[in-house]
Amino acid sequence: MTDFTMTIGGKAAAGAATFGVVNPATGEVFAQAPECTADQLDSAMSAAADAYVTWRKDEDTRRKAMLAAAEAIVAAASELTPLLTAEQGKPLSQAATEVYGSAAWLKYFAGLELPREIIQDDKRGLAEVVRRPIGPVAAITPWNFPLLLAFWKIAPALRAGNTLVLKPSPFTPLVSLKIGEVLRDVLPPGVLNVVSGGNELGGLMTAHPVPRKVSFTGSIATGKKVAASAAPDLKRVTLELGGNDAAIVLDDADPAEVAGKIFDGAFANNGQVCSAIKRLYVPENLHDELVEALAAKAKAAKVGDGTAEGTELGPINNRPQYERVSELVADAVAGGARAAAGGKSVDGPGYFFEPTILDNIDDGARIVDEEQFGPALPVIVYRDVDDALRRANATNFGLSGSVWSADTDRAAAVAAELECGTAWVNTHLVLSPSQPFAGTKWSGIGVENGPWGYYGFTEIQVIYRAK
Ligand code: NAD
Repeated sequence: MTDFTMTIGGKAAAGAATFGVVNPATGEVFAQAPECTADQLDSAMSAAADAYVTWRKDEDTRRKAMLAAAEAIVAAASELTPLLTAEQGKPLSQAATEVYGSAAWLKYFAGLELPREIIQDDKRGLAEVVRRPIGPVAAITPWNFPLLLAFWKIAPALRAGNTLVLKPSPFTPLVSLKIGEVLRDVLPPGVLNVVSGGNELGGLMTAHPVPRKVSFTGSIATGKKVAASAAPDLKRVTLELGGNDAAIVLDDADPAEVAGKIFDGAFANNGQVCSAIKRLYVPENLHDELVEALAAKAKAAKVGDGTAEGTELGPINNRPQYERVSELVADAVAGGARAAAGGKSVDGPGYFFEPTILDNIDDGARIVDEEQFGPALPVIVYRDVDDALRRANATNFGLSGSVWSADTDRAAAVAAELECGTAWVNTHLVLSPSQPFAGTKWSGIGVENGPWGYYGFTEIQVIYRAK
């Protein structure tokens, strides 16, 4: 497959060169993506700046265009879904959920009603706080949910009147390029530009003089570079970064009841979710039963090519990540951890790794302290709730977390002590377009989704009319 083009100013643009995209289920290059040159990036930025002049003016036009874009995505679902599976690895049904979710995000933000904000109306004057768009936005996305996370940015940015230049991860550029193509005649030229290339293209975007905002989702290490690069000309930034979510099981929880949900919270998208459960804290009295139940789930999970019927967990997306997960699991086992399930890669081609449950492990092991971002879950015994909270919070990560108990009020009180942006009770990973999503500490700056996500693509202006 070589027919992927970038979208610059509403037109197809081939790169001067191309780079290979690997199907993680086979480990083989199956398509070529265009490599954006610095000149082409300049053109994309200019197109976004030109389109902004008109796009920012009429909210009604924007809402209608966004609804038309949602329809176009749904109409293209049968093309987008297998492409997402081929480059990302996730099972087809989950790829389809991501495609339809992208349309749902567009619809939510197209329909979002926001109250007028009048802060003074008296005999001296009328003061209203209005929200202005910021300008062209540089949007940079990771490889775990290439489509949905792009629309977490595109939908609120467009609704607010901004234009965008989107750059997907070099591991998963194709579905974003295809979106550019699908929406080429739906959105006015220059409103949504899509470029592809390596990590250095991201650096060129964040340092570029045109964008007034950088909306970035990815790792903490890259997020820090993005913040530094955006600082000299004071670009606004939203950073959605890595997580190392702790789930705490309280001593009154029913292992049979919670094990399945905890497994899903840890292994969704094969563990490649920023806000997946990445550390599980359990009390001594429930340890054996929980580990056994989780190990049974892990052993029963069907791992395979995302195109195969019944596959629940696909491959790890890319070789460096596959090597990282392998290394962290090997390090844990070398340090004395026990693999109650899994523990090694699957023989054969592709980046497959057995779903792994580790116990006899403690804080200080790399897989507990770092973000594994893959199909391996360490289970750690805690002494009492204060001990569990102390361990859960003793980290620079602060994305999300969860607490599990038969008593939801008790669990909610513990959840309130977790230092993170979202704390779930008896569930994990419930997200929606209306629910704000934000990382505390090193997990991010700013908010996505809901009115708060929309406000992040605006700047405040006060209109004061003297009476
Ligand atoms: P990454 O940081 O390696 O790459 C993310 C994007 O940044 C890619 O498009 C990449 O090309 C680009 N990039 C790389 N170097 C850059 C630079 N110097 N300047 C600008 N852009 C640059 O992350 P990844 O490996 O693709 O994704 C996995 C990470 O993303 C995990 O840490 C995960 O937790 C995090 N993540 C966070 C969220 C969230 O919403 N908080 C969601 C998904 C993933």
